Amino acid sequence: MAEVVALVGCKGPAQEAEYLQILSAALPGERLVPFRTMNEAERAQAQVAIVANPDPAEVAALPGLVWVQSLWAGVEKLVGAFDRPLPIVRLVDREMARAMAEAVLAWTTYLQRDMPAYARQQRERVWKPHPYRKPADTVVGLLGLGALGTAAAERLTGAGFSVTGWSRTPKTIAGIETVHGADGLAPMLGRCDILVCLVPLTSETRGLVNADRLALLKPGAALINFARGPIVVTADLIAALDAGHLSHAVLDVFDVEPLPAGSPLWTHPGVTVLPHISGPTDMDSAAATVAANLREYRSTGQPPQGVDAGRGY
Ligand code: NDP
Repeated sequence: MAEVVALVGCKGPAQEAEYLQILSAALPGERLVPFRTMNEAERAQAQVAIVANPDPAEVAALPGLVWVQSLWAGVEKLVGAFDRPLPIVRLVDREMARAMAEAVLAWTTYLQRDMPAYARQQRERVWKPHPYRKPADTVVGLLGLGALGTAAAERLTGAGFSVTGWSRTPKTIAGIETVHGADGLAPMLGRCDILVCLVPLTSETRGLVNADRLALLKPGAALINFARGPIVVTADLIAALDAGHLSHAVLDVFDVEPLPAGSPLWTHPGVTVLPHISGPTDMDSAAATVAANLREYRSTGQPPQGVDAGRGY
């Protein structure tokens, strides 16, 4: 008999139907059942839950659960959210990394080629060329060298940018300079023309990009935040833009999403607002990744490597 896998936390019936169809096709031998429609026997039987944005109470209502597979890469809302310790396996997916790296390259190039300034000038009918700055003369600093940061580093170096990256533990990545830990951060910030945020949101990274750290960036530097909103202190960012110390910020993530209509970020001339689209989950690719994780579990009885609950990622 097919094993029961719970599908929890889809956003509405249309998303549930789409995910159900794509995931079921990738999971032969498994019976994927939306939590909403599960009977008591199915709830008792489920060892694995595939989750989008789950209500923790629904996960708590699955007593035999052994591990949780997230459909997103960022799992800060799941860590510590359940009534018992459960391994949480986040999505590490090649297509997501490719799409994120593409977005990092696109918006880094946007900043390197002074496009925010030219957009402003067009609105004011100003014809004024700015000096060209080569990618090799543009230092891009990556906060985070994990699945997404590493993919972004490869794409940026391929396009000729000078890349430096920061992580918690030491890393060696061909073609980029790496630093790590609290001591490595300040000297790196001092060299950045463009700072790209790709660290997870944890107790250590909340508020990481604050007034003091923004002040360390080169005058005229720009920021890209593709990770999570609360990693950047919004008031400090606006102050740095207003003071002219920062030239522009490209923001894909915010403290509250969707960004509230009253947020000053919507209309700030130094801010590009994106609706959390930099690294979308590709369901076809994600389904294949989830299927591989489930196969490993069914053959070994061991859940795949989950996030470290203490570290928060
Ligand atoms: P990983 O867990 O693979 O990588 C995280 C990186 O951050 C690692 O290099 C890690 O260091 C580093 N890091 C974590 N904490 C610290 C710290 N305190 N000091 C220094 N470095 C630290 O995550 P991913 O690359 O897969 O994803 C990163 C984040 O991107 C996700 O958590 C999510 O929030 C966000 N995201 C955003 C999307 C969007 O569409 N906007 C889409 C997908 C993800 P070390 O290597 O030493 O462990």
